[in-house]
Amino acid sequence: MNEEPIKCCTKCGKVKPITEFSKKETAKDGYRNRCKACIREEYKIYHATHREEEREFRRRYKTTCPEKVKEAKRRYRETHREQLIEANRRYKVINQMEIKKRNKKYQHAHPEKARERQRKYYAAHPEKAKEFNRNHRAKKYVAIGKGITWEEWENICEKYDNQCLACGKAGELTIDHIVPLSRGGVHDGSNIQPLCASCNAKKGKKTMDYRHNFELQKASKFHLTSAPTSV
Ligand SMILES: [Zn+2]
Ligand SMILES: [Zn+2]
Repeated sequence: MNEEPIKCCTKCGKVKPITEFSKKETAKDGYRNRCKACIREEYKIYHATHREEEREFRRRYKTTCPEKVKEAKRRYRETHREQLIEANRRYKVINQMEIKKRNKKYQHAHPEKARERQRKYYAAHPEKAKEFNRNHRAKKYVAIGKGITWEEWENICEKYDNQCLACGKAGELTIDHIVPLSRGGVHDGSNIQPLCASCNAKKGKKTMDYRHNFELQKASKFHLTSAPTSV
């Protein structure tokens, strides 16, 4: 009969198959006296009660054998590539709010670095730069509204003769939110009028609709040219 060898653990007193014991060359039967489960339990207790010493040991090891630590880390990264990528992905999902906060903090502390990175990115993605400028303020206030495309914006400018609705100046026009985003205005065509940069700045956070002015002026012009004699 070919029975599986067994052994009694000196710690828990249980009789277990020999495969439940680790090998030990110097032992009489070639195996440790305590079973794997008991050894594991001992380690657990040891780690829990010697946290500081172990940390100190690791710290000292790191300073005395830095190249060994580096090499071990490199090997680990190489053999656990997939797991590390997955862990990183999960970490980002779980901690996205924290990460955002940390990034914001870093950008505040290193504005020149953040600007440089942004500059590089937008130089490589000019279409993103346009979109950013258009939607930047909207994002800042988490505005509701469906946003505005470049075409829609051009159509609005055209509708008002490509001139500033406040001063009538033609030229570079900026998006002005009639009801400011900071006051809950929506970010779409229904709340947008073209103003020159200086009128836009002057308007600031006031709610002013210049579109009526334009309509009135247009109507009166029409009135003057179509029927100059009648008043
Ligand atoms: Zn045991
Ligand atoms: Zn103006």
